[in-house]
Amino acid sequence: MALAAARLRTADLRVTAPRMAVLVAVQESAGHLDADALRERAQRVTGRLSLQATYNVLRALTDAGLVRCTLIPGHPARYETERHDNHHHFVCRRCGTIRDVVCALGTAPCMDPQLPEEYDTQEAAVTFWGLCPDCRTDAQAP
Ligand SMILES: [Zn+2]
Ligand SMILES: [Zn+2]
Repeated sequence: MALAAARLRTADLRVTAPRMAVLVAVQESAGHLDADALRERAQRVTGRLSLQATYNVLRALTDAGLVRCTLIPGHPARYETERHDNHHHFVCRRCGTIRDVVCALGTAPCMDPQLPEEYDTQEAAVTFWGLCPDCRTDAQAP
């Protein structure tokens, strides 16, 4: 909690109980939870927290660069600790498992888009789709 408060202050965010609780929930998860799952965890500390309040907190944390929000078509927004590593995601088409994929070429943005030089590209988001090992095994079973 003390660490979460320090991180909020460093990011110039006012320290509030919901912000601390949601930030800790994101940090303690293995990553890629949606707002509802984070709300459930944060509520163990703060007491009742509405989904809208949770989204507001997540927006503030994301804008401040503490949390990374990933939008994957067909899924609710997922949140994880922002590590500024520009990693990508693999999504299993069958079970929806999301796992991190290390940025292939190192420096962000890791793609060189074909755009006029007036465009300032700051980020590249790549989503790989396929089957996770468990679902592959299931798919091959008779
Ligand atoms: Zn799967
Ligand atoms: Zn990730």
